[in-house]
Amino acid sequence: MKKLGCLMLILAIPILILSMLMVGVIMVATGDNDTMGSDSDSDFTDVDGEYRFNAMNEEVERYRPYFERYAKENGIEDHVEILMGMTMQESGGRLADVMQSSESLGLPRNTITDPEESIKQGVSYFADVLELAGGDTELALQAYNMGHGFIDYAHENNGGNYSQELAYEFGEMMASRLGWNNYGDENYVDNVMRYLDKNDDTEYAGGSGDWSLPLENIRITSEFGPRIHPVTGEVNRFHGGLDFGCTPADDILSVADGKVIEAVHSNVGYGNYVTVQHGNDEYSRYAHLSSIGVSQGDTVSQGESLGKCGTTGSSTGNHLHLEHITDLGQPPEAKTDPRETLGL
Ligand SMILES: [Zn+2]
Repeated sequence: MKKLGCLMLILAIPILILSMLMVGVIMVATGDNDTMGSDSDSDFTDVDGEYRFNAMNEEVERYRPYFERYAKENGIEDHVEILMGMTMQESGGRLADVMQSSESLGLPRNTITDPEESIKQGVSYFADVLELAGGDTELALQAYNMGHGFIDYAHENNGGNYSQELAYEFGEMMASRLGWNNYGDENYVDNVMRYLDKNDDTEYAGGSGDWSLPLENIRITSEFGPRIHPVTGEVNRFHGGLDFGCTPADDILSVADGKVIEAVHSNVGYGNYVTVQHGNDEYSRYAHLSSIGVSQGDTVSQGESLGKCGTTGSSTGNHLHLEHITDLGQPPEAKTDPRETLGL
């Protein structure tokens, strides 16, 4: 018996080592697969919403000297804004591993606990990828998210150029190869570049409708109505709400006086969400919150905080999905465009 046990141990050790090595290889291959803002268990049609902030928030802005220092050290001082946009996308400046760069060292996610160390490593890794990408910022960004393999793939299939379609194809190929639902963020380039777009969006000072605004500062990132796949042109599920970009620091505000009829914690679909009843046939629903600050049965006033902005459930990044419902359980296409009720 003892001999048999010993033999099994001798056999088991190499298998164990081999499987550990394979896990390591997969982790390296995925690079920065799962950014803070992306959701890995939703397919494309369920993903809800794009998002954008008004450029950098103060959490990221406070690290600017580090970005400048390490960008200079790596000879990419003209990429400081891009690096900060990446950090907004990766963590919003709110995790110690601000650039989520531990994975680029082959370490598990969030093992770097010092923001400066994370920036130092993230900038150095981006500089390497940028060089591999021949200085093409878009190609380098997508490779920072999906791994070096994306650059080779671009050379093999697209003359070495980035395109969003190519990112979709590569993501799909890698996901099916690894048996995952989702691989990386196909919209990573757009998601990062948004933080650099300071002037291309209308800002709304305030609405003129029956409802007040659900956020102190609003920026619409996705409209109510049918959605078109950005690449294939395929018409997806009807989007039954209006999306607003926000950060986890932002309070989600009740659009009118009412009563909380749902305060649900979930990690699928709407994620954490609150539904407020304002009348017999008028409800507002607030989805993807990071935390909920009210309970079912609470009476709330217009402008009162219901919770904090987040990216729970089927969501690709921090945003608020707001719905105007007239009959609980109605399908998305029967809902009302919140733009109308908000007077936007
Ligand atoms: Zn939405």
